[in-house]
Amino acid sequence: MSRPSSAGGGSGGLGGGGGGGAGKAGGGKHGGSAAVAAAAAAAAAAAAGSVPGSGAALSAASLPAAAAANAANSNNLLPGQPSELTALFECPVCFDYVLPPILQCQAGHLVCNQCRQKLSCCPTCRGPLTPSIRNLAMEKVASTLPFPCKYSSAGCALSLHHSEKPEHEEVCEFRPYTCPCPGATCKWHGSLEAVMPHLVHAHKSITTLQGEDIVFLATDINLPGAVDWVMMQSCFNHNFMLVLEKQEKYEGHQQFFAVVLLIGTRKQAENFAYRLELNGNRRRLTWEATPRSIHDGVAAAILNSDCLVFDTSIAHLFADNGNLGINVTISVC
Ligand SMILES: [Zn+2]
Ligand SMILES: [Zn+2]
Ligand SMILES: [Zn+2]
Ligand SMILES: [Zn+2]
Repeated sequence: MSRPSSAGGGSGGLGGGGGGGAGKAGGGKHGGSAAVAAAAAAAAAAAAGSVPGSGAALSAASLPAAAAANAANSNNLLPGQPSELTALFECPVCFDYVLPPILQCQAGHLVCNQCRQKLSCCPTCRGPLTPSIRNLAMEKVASTLPFPCKYSSAGCALSLHHSEKPEHEEVCEFRPYTCPCPGATCKWHGSLEAVMPHLVHAHKSITTLQGEDIVFLATDINLPGAVDWVMMQSCFNHNFMLVLEKQEKYEGHQQFFAVVLLIGTRKQAENFAYRLELNGNRRRLTWEATPRSIHDGVAAAILNSDCLVFDTSIAHLFADNGNLGINVTISVC
């Protein structure tokens, strides 16, 4: 029944549990004004006299030059290590980066846009945050700097242009895993290794079937409203989550979405294929695909229709007394 697992057995992959390595802290959170002045002075020197800056306060005029100097020096920085300049962009509230559009208080203090929305006054000087004053000079500097990925403390070594950061962080392999159960009711998140223990303890009602070839029986498919059916399948030394979801993706048009997710990374998922088959009443409907990693989640699969999709009348063709059996076969490829 169970073939030997050719795909790296056990809980392999994605090591690096404990912290270790380059924390985000790097160049001092509050990079005092001495460091700032030093950076500005160094920039003035490096720019071979083209900067009027006397090395005094960090004026808007001297900043772009400092950025240029930093860019020239950036080869000396370890990947993912914030430079003195990127440290200037740290939000004083959440320590994430203040990225364009950059707004300041009337005294010139910066706070990130997420925090700004929750604040009634400047966290640094308590002065008013309105009217909004844009800081174009800092925005220009931000556009010349690589910023470390949000998950650098978890091990990601990438630094990116601020415009590319959100897109990368969405798919960053160091992003914590969220609970794979469909619906957003469970707020758990943690490491990949902690996902199975979480499911076992917090979602006891989910049953597990052993073997590569099983039947996923969804009962009472006529229940009104949005409904999820979930079960686990264990084979090839891996755990897979089978999800059938009934929802109205388009108003007034109820559909079923069935998908298989691997409790594992996207890379591990590429070692497998799955087949879903509805069979009965002399009809057959089949879907074959690569399992999705739980890092991508069910919602994305449904949004892109990257799953077996069928409407209620098809479900009724295959259902027996309101129960729908889906044959699930998982194979190694
Ligand atoms: Zn913030
Ligand atoms: Zn202020
Ligand atoms: Zn990353
Ligand atoms: Zn959960």
